[in-house]
Amino acid sequence: MLEGLSRFAFSTLANSQLLKRAASRYGMRRADSFARRFIAGETVYEAIAAARALEADGYTVTLDLLGESVSSVEAAIDATETYIAILEDIARAGISRNLSVKLTQLGLDVDPATAVDNLRRLLDAAGTHEFFVRVDMEGSPYTDGTLKTFETVWNIGYRNVGIVIQSYLRRSAEDVERVNNLGATIRLVKGAYREARDIAYQRKSEVDAAFVSLMETLLSAGTKPAIATHDPAMIEATKSFADGLGVQPDGFEFQMLYGVRRDLQAALLAEGYRVRVYVPFGSEWFPYFMRRLAERPANVTFVVKSLLRERRGT
Ligand SMILES: Cc1cc2nc3c(=O)[nH]c(=O)nc-3n(C[C@H](O)[C@H](O)[C@H](O)COP(=O)(O)OP(=O)(O)OC[C@H]3O[C@@H](n4cnc5c(N)ncnc54)[C@H](O)[C@@H]3O)c2cc1C
Repeated sequence: MLEGLSRFAFSTLANSQLLKRAASRYGMRRADSFARRFIAGETVYEAIAAARALEADGYTVTLDLLGESVSSVEAAIDATETYIAILEDIARAGISRNLSVKLTQLGLDVDPATAVDNLRRLLDAAGTHEFFVRVDMEGSPYTDGTLKTFETVWNIGYRNVGIVIQSYLRRSAEDVERVNNLGATIRLVKGAYREARDIAYQRKSEVDAAFVSLMETLLSAGTKPAIATHDPAMIEATKSFADGLGVQPDGFEFQMLYGVRRDLQAALLAEGYRVRVYVPFGSEWFPYFMRRLAERPANVTFVVKSLLRERRGT
């Protein structure tokens, strides 16, 4: 029954304020509360602790302060300043200097120029501490704005920045070529948002075929690509294409989400591949959490079990 729940159902639920309030109350309360499976914690210190544990096992990390779609210039500036403060905390902690950021958090929805200004401020601070910043890709209303903002900072001369391309979008082969021509690095993902048929593939087989084709382009002509998936078929295709091409394991990296397919993460590491774990944290975790449920409705069972356990006090 759960498998029948669509991305539509989850994105509708994600907008429910009632559900958000209830989830926020229980999701992070205890060390074993349900949201902690996918979110490292609400503070940067919890994220740093999670990152340290992962790095001790041999992974690298990218930290993401959760939050999206701020609705005023002031809020965008606040978010940027928070990101910069966090960057300094991470630098002091001595873990991987790698952040992921959503441009709507920096004001893309309010005013594109604000997003450029804030991204530049973040990249300046990142440069001082030798950080790399990956610009996440959001839903299709932001694809053009995200690419344009990225190109603007790239053309100004920033090089400590990369972008994400989603294989479910029909336009992505052109976008990959556009970014490859700059010499910038891409994280390839399937895509996590609900998109219309005319712009996005709907069938898994089509999304996967596009993913494989874009992965091949990136491994042959890209710059240190990141192949971000938990799909064993995509991972096998990547390994075998890289082998055939003679790409060394340090010529690209796999990336996976915190708490998702930890068995696969460990297996890849044991085989000698580089694996970076995306570690999200912060109090605005609800939309991210709902996207993880939408990807795998069976996760709902896990949430319900955790809630029951919590109510029983076990
Ligand atoms: C490092 C990283 C960064 C990302 N950044 C972005 C971004 O910027 N923009 C964007 O749109 N999307 C992003 N995504 C999400 C991505 O688009 C997919 O929604 C997500 O990775 C699921 O797709 P999949 O490739 O794992 O394959 P799927 O076909 O969805 O899943 C394959 C298998 O992986 C496992 N799996 C997948 N998801 C889950 C889950 N939530 N819980 C448990 N098991 C699961 C299951 O075993 C499933 O059968 C990112 C993903 C990763 C790994």
